[in-house]
Amino acid sequence: MENVKNPLNDEPFTFCGFEPYQKLNGEWTELKLWQSKCKTCDKPFTVKTPISVFKFEDSKSFMVINCLEHRKKKSAYGNFKK
Ligand SMILES: [Zn+2]
Repeated sequence: MENVKNPLNDEPFTFCGFEPYQKLNGEWTELKLWQSKCKTCDKPFTVKTPISVFKFEDSKSFMVINCLEHRKKKSAYGNFKK
């Protein structure tokens, strides 16, 4: 599987495996796991997408450049500014 490059910061999302996922209707499927690097602290983080996703444009899950921790701080700051 090819890496997905994040046009927001040029970091690649590297495909790193599947995770079982149960849909609302009870059916089981799999999610793809992709790993990238936090822009703020360089720590790796993963995002999950449906298995039909092959490129950046396929999923909004790729619209992140920070790990979970730094995403939270950023949005908290954003709220504060409003
Ligand atoms: Zn971080």
